[in-house]
Amino acid sequence: MTTQKGSIQVNTENIFPIIKKFLYSDHEIFLRELISNATDATTKLKHFSSIGQFKGGLGDLRIIVKLDAKKKTLSITDKGVGMTAEEIDKYINQIAFSGAEEFVKQYKTAGDAGMIGHFGLGFYSSFMVAKKVEIHTLSYAEGAEAAHWTCDGSTEFTIGKSKKKDRGTEIILHIDEENEEFLEDSRIQGLLNKYCRFLPIPIQFGTKTDYVDDPENKNEDGTPKRKSVEVDRIINDHAPLWKKSPTELKDEDYKAFYQTLYPMSEAPLFWIHLNVDYPFNLTGILYFPKVKNELELQRNKIQLYSNQVFVTDDVKDVVPEFLMLLHGVIDSPDIPLNVSRSFLQSDAQVKKITSHITKKVADKLEEIFKSDRKAYEEKWESIGLFVKYGAVSDDKFAEKALKFTLLKNTEGEFFTLDEYKSKVEVNQKNKDNKIVLLYTNNIKNQAPFIQTAKKRSYDVLDMNGPLDSHFIGFMEHKEGDLSIVRVDADAIDKIIDKGEVRESVLSETQVESLKKTFADQVKKPDWEIQTEALSPDDHFITVIKPEWERRMKEMQGGAGMFGMFPERVVVMVNTNHPLAGKIAGMDGDEAKTDFVEQSFDLALLSQNMLEGEALERFIRRTENMMK
Ligand code: ADP
Ligand code: MG
Repeated sequence: MTTQKGSIQVNTENIFPIIKKFLYSDHEIFLRELISNATDATTKLKHFSSIGQFKGGLGDLRIIVKLDAKKKTLSITDKGVGMTAEEIDKYINQIAFSGAEEFVKQYKTAGDAGMIGHFGLGFYSSFMVAKKVEIHTLSYAEGAEAAHWTCDGSTEFTIGKSKKKDRGTEIILHIDEENEEFLEDSRIQGLLNKYCRFLPIPIQFGTKTDYVDDPENKNEDGTPKRKSVEVDRIINDHAPLWKKSPTELKDEDYKAFYQTLYPMSEAPLFWIHLNVDYPFNLTGILYFPKVKNELELQRNKIQLYSNQVFVTDDVKDVVPEFLMLLHGVIDSPDIPLNVSRSFLQSDAQVKKITSHITKKVADKLEEIFKSDRKAYEEKWESIGLFVKYGAVSDDKFAEKALKFTLLKNTEGEFFTLDEYKSKVEVNQKNKDNKIVLLYTNNIKNQAPFIQTAKKRSYDVLDMNGPLDSHFIGFMEHKEGDLSIVRVDADAIDKIIDKGEVRESVLSETQVESLKKTFADQVKKPDWEIQTEALSPDDHFITVIKPEWERRMKEMQGGAGMFGMFPERVVVMVNTNHPLAGKIAGMDGDEAKTDFVEQSFDLALLSQNMLEGEALERFIRRTENMMK
């Protein structure tokens, strides 16, 4: 065979400049592409050997990555199937090239951020960093001749003989000036760690120093001294945990694997080992991290792999939003990776995978809930955030979620919604036969309201989580016969209105005059004054925040389309309280004013709302009164 020149059949336009110039942001993926090819070639040979199509010895199959600083080359060598000159022409010059053309075309429409994992550019991605690429290859086929291909990043190539003696392929990249970072050991080491950490074939990159016993040199106590030796540096774990069978794994294995993925992290709460063959292929391990508050929630902790090749840790569009709070790995060759994100969202296969993962997660939660309720309750603080997020954001998950969602009351007891409903059913039904659940989002500040509710033997839920206001809406939506009201939304007998009418102790004129006195004294222009004939045992003055207006504001979460939605605040005066009668019977405006101010400040104080100058005035006034 003599060396021949040829030119690659160009269909549309010359893609080399585009590969070089426009795909600049992810230059590093060339290494993943070339090592995946080496892995494919090796796996193929192992397969041929297993079915008897290849009869020779497999030998050491490791892939070797090498830097040559002097020659400014990076090479990747495998012991796989190799290629004949004809195969190079077919696979590299024709098929791979048109594949790369197709990729570039898609890339130009989808743009940089729109492509998931940038899979599909394949072999030609090497021209992102190299001015010249060489292939030396010897096919496994009997009697095959070694071939040598070179291309300098134009559509011209040469193909000829190679001196390569052993089976497999060596790809040599002559790194160009702009990309000399890829001649640095640490850069390559970093990339191998990122993309190839769990590849199924061992990958060697340089050597490392190890310390072993030296029998020649003994310490005084007779034990051997240690000596350093240089050993091959294998950078990957070629049989990662998620590929193993769950039956042969222990809790410690899962925990240790979690540590290798996220060093220095707190141990996960539990995990789900995914293992599906049909109708799609999916393996992986999802971990539930321990979280204490919303700030700790981190998305983008799940890593997506395809046949053990790292693709991305931006798994948006592959797993539902709420599952992104989990950690771990998902490996599926059935997720189309050479497509844009918008395509991925509508892909039927991806939808199936997504809903399978959702179902598995729900099943697991239900299983732990049922098998060990106590442990589940202990972990609820972490799990709850996730379950509530799932329930409000994902319909499929929501269908199951109420079975294993826990509600906690102010006594720290846990209930499912059904359990809780039967607990409060008798006591907390209003005149329309609707069960009214009470909750607080701040046990300390709303203590007076909680106490008033408890005096009537009502139970109060503790809902102070970041997602609870959404979750309350969700529960009401799911359960038509339920209303859920915060304890400080109104007078308790109006929140749970049993239809009993209370006689007013004061006359109508007295009530009017009391209302006017308060209206004059309460120096909050936006607050309303309301009078109500409540139980004489209830507090005299309370500051309440009506449920609906407050929820609207919460949902709006700050300034919305119409600017800030003003919060409605009502000063509720209990006209049946003994103090109401006392004020009504007072003469002398000054004494009345002091009394009204004092009562109002007390109400504010009891709810932690008295501060600054008003607090100072309150203290002075109280001191004067005590004198
Ligand atoms: P893909 O891997 O998607 O097929 P590539 O552009 O990465 O596309 O590679 C094109 C083809 O070149 C491969 O399908 C394979 O036939 C051949 N090839 C590339 N690298 C090697 C290798 N190291 N050993 C054997 N064949 C290879
Ligand atoms: Mg490839």
